[in-house]
Amino acid sequence: MTDTIFGKIIRREIPASIVYEDDDVLGFKDIAPQAPVHVLFIPKHEVIPTLDDLQPAQAHLIGKLALAAAAYARREGFAQDGYRIVMNCRENAGQTVFHIHLHLLAGAPLGHFGAP
Ligand code: AMP
Repeated sequence: MTDTIFGKIIRREIPASIVYEDDDVLGFKDIAPQAPVHVLFIPKHEVIPTLDDLQPAQAHLIGKLALAAAAYARREGFAQDGYRIVMNCRENAGQTVFHIHLHLLAGAPLGHFGAP
């Protein structure tokens, strides 16, 4: 299993600002936030490098990440204001950590995106 910095966070080998945890998902604040709220949600028990590596039998994990992000948004009181979830896949999307993760961005109106 390929280890990453997120594996070290799961094992509490390096510090992180953990804000959400359930049986399957860990959520922690991004170290370089791109919005007032920027939390990363990762699977705790599987290391899947990219979305392109996700197998059909693992599809439920993406739902768990999304549900964790939505639960966090409700818990923190900004669900009604809105938020964005993002998953970067490989180089052109700027993926830097190869342990599948969902970005949750919120806390202010977010610019639209798409063009380089
Ligand atoms: P991505 O570009 O989609 O691979 O996102 C990886 C994210 O992980 C980036 O937004 C980084 O700022 C973030 N990151 C890297 N190392 C850490 C860390 N030790 N704690 C929290 N976030 C991190």
